[in-house]
Amino acid sequence: MGKFPTAFYGTVSQGGAEGNGLSNIVGMTFPPSVIPATDVERVLVVAAHPDDIDFGAAGTIYGWTQAGIEVAYCIVTRGDAGGFDDRPREQMPIVREAEQRAAAAEVGVKDVCFLDGYSDGAVYVTHELRRDLTREIRRFRPQRVVGPSPLRNWERIAPSHPDHLAVGEALMRAVYPDARNRFAHPELLAVEGLDEWTVPEVWLSGGPNPDYMVDITDIFDVKLKALSAHVSQVSHLGSSGTDSLEDMLLGMLGANAAEAGMTPGRLAEAFTVISTR
Ligand SMILES: [Zn+2]
Repeated sequence: MGKFPTAFYGTVSQGGAEGNGLSNIVGMTFPPSVIPATDVERVLVVAAHPDDIDFGAAGTIYGWTQAGIEVAYCIVTRGDAGGFDDRPREQMPIVREAEQRAAAAEVGVKDVCFLDGYSDGAVYVTHELRRDLTREIRRFRPQRVVGPSPLRNWERIAPSHPDHLAVGEALMRAVYPDARNRFAHPELLAVEGLDEWTVPEVWLSGGPNPDYMVDITDIFDVKLKALSAHVSQVSHLGSSGTDSLEDMLLGMLGANAAEAGMTPGRLAEAFTVISTR
């Protein structure tokens, strides 16, 4: 692990369901996170758009690749509705795919796949999306899957982009039951030879009341580099009175750490960890 302390993965804050009890009152939310497995060899990270992974989890993923864990990305769209500049719109998916591959390289991830046939802003929980995510799970056979929360976060609007909610729900349906049921999407086995696979653990990002915090303070510079690779999405930050990318991240990650009761100045990425055995 080198410079990563053993506590790197282990800070669980129980401010939610077992803390003040509020999450039981506000309705649909997650149970307290489980303690993550320690024998993970492969992690599949699924996202709706280029840059989602880097905002939510790039620091955590760098910790994993540094520890020798193999990480693959599957991104459902090429972010064709994103961006802030005047370039011809047909260039955007090409630019954003290249940006995502560069960002992945910053955190030690080479295996990056983009699904075809899905448009930014128009992702729905369809049978086809479940099949395509099932295919990636059966192909990579991960012990852990990371993805967007299918539950809406009512406190902040941006993490609950409808594409994120749709990918989160389709992903959970792929994890259970599709990937582990050899009779689901029978063409995957019959034509492509992809046998069933059970994913035992899922990490969700962007949902309500996340209670599993990963301290990324010491590798913040790597996360900042990964996000900076998304030039078309972040280069406008810091001009005309907006926060710079760095300030925005420090605010967001510092708030996560404070929520978990970490020492002031620490930075954390926030998840909910679900057992899907
Ligand atoms: Zn997104």
